[in-house]
Amino acid sequence: MTQTSHALFQVAQQCIPGGVNSPVRAFRGVGGDPIFIDHAEGPFFWDVEGKRYLDYVGSWGPMIHGHGHPEVLAAVHAQVNKGLGFGAPTAIEVEMAELVCALVPGIESVRMTSSGTEAVMTAIRLARGYTGRDRIIKFEGNYHGHSDSLLVKAGSGALTLGQPSSAGVPREISQNTLVLPYNDLPAVEEMMARFGFDVATIIVEPVAGNMGCVPPEPGFLEGLRAVCDQYGCVLIFDEVMTGFRVAVGGAQALYGVRPDLTTLGKIIGGGLPVGAVGGPREMMEYLAPTGPVYQAGTLSGNPVAMAAGLATLRLLTVPGFHERLAAQTGVLCKGLAERAEAAGVSMQINHVPGMFGWFFAEQPVRGFDAVMAADSKRYARFFHGLLARGVYLAPSAYEAGFLSAAHGDTEIAATLDAAEAVLATLKED
Ligand code: PMP
Repeated sequence: MTQTSHALFQVAQQCIPGGVNSPVRAFRGVGGDPIFIDHAEGPFFWDVEGKRYLDYVGSWGPMIHGHGHPEVLAAVHAQVNKGLGFGAPTAIEVEMAELVCALVPGIESVRMTSSGTEAVMTAIRLARGYTGRDRIIKFEGNYHGHSDSLLVKAGSGALTLGQPSSAGVPREISQNTLVLPYNDLPAVEEMMARFGFDVATIIVEPVAGNMGCVPPEPGFLEGLRAVCDQYGCVLIFDEVMTGFRVAVGGAQALYGVRPDLTTLGKIIGGGLPVGAVGGPREMMEYLAPTGPVYQAGTLSGNPVAMAAGLATLRLLTVPGFHERLAAQTGVLCKGLAERAEAAGVSMQINHVPGMFGWFFAEQPVRGFDAVMAADSKRYARFFHGLLARGVYLAPSAYEAGFLSAAHGDTEIAATLDAAEAVLATLKED
């Protein structure tokens, strides 16, 4: 008997909360049943019913070379044959650390974790331990994983489900998190003038990717660097999404602003569960076993995950890789803008290399309020129209889209044809 996504979802809801292991997968943001995936190759995946989709989610970012790149799979298979994990040091962890230190400008020393959430949790604890201060500043609609301090006015699934601040987070913890509007430097300067010497860290997504895609305004990241220097607080760039994607050295390389700590995830694991936190050696040595800030992980630096990540990183250091990715993203986004205009549908289209945000809005989207003002119901109709035509966008208006190196001219042209057909149906709203 052929399994259907619908039947699987019925069963899943009986034994998994909401039928999914991470909230946005449930399609709550767009309505309808999620599709269940069977397998994937290059820019495509196939659902359990055998239908093929062109994938613009890419496992939420890791699949920068497309699915199942032969070199990544070969590296994983070779490591699997040597053993799945030992909980003791391995050479491949050293290779990974050396490569990350060479590629990311702000990293001299790096600790691996098993997820982005853990990486950011560690960075926050380290910043607090290093400065001896408790308060932190984050930005509205930025998502930094689901640890207590950071689930305050968060983006991604928290926003999709209308729960930007979670139940279960003690007030004593959340009251140390100050939240400011993204891309609003004067608001940061004002807050720092009041509390600057109590603030351990300012944490930011250097390109916001958890409320669609909202790039930094010129001067915003530079301004954050300056206030952190002025008040002696730690600047954290959460590059879980942007790391290795927008440039080999991440957003800090693209925009030329050096954070103190950098968090990584997604691409660094090549599709397996990995995160990392890195920074200057002197600060990183505040972590156990050299320093007083405790952090650990049974599976941290897992050799199979390191093999997938290393192969993925090596493939993207090829000269011209990001130039091509940026060009393809530009072609897709420019093509969509032209078709939206021709169809008389107001869209705002943001993009950086390999990442995009498509909003149904009249005004440019440069911050959280503009994201919230965009028409998410129209996005849901656009999403379902494309889904029916075999193009899979993020099932929420508040997520970025991702391109891979496997998205070629043919796939982009097919996406634009499908978008044109769907836009024609949206006009009549
Ligand atoms: N930070 C950012 C910027 C992210 O985009 C994400 C996940 N989307 C996280 C942290 C959390 O990573 P993970 O889901 O691996 O815990």
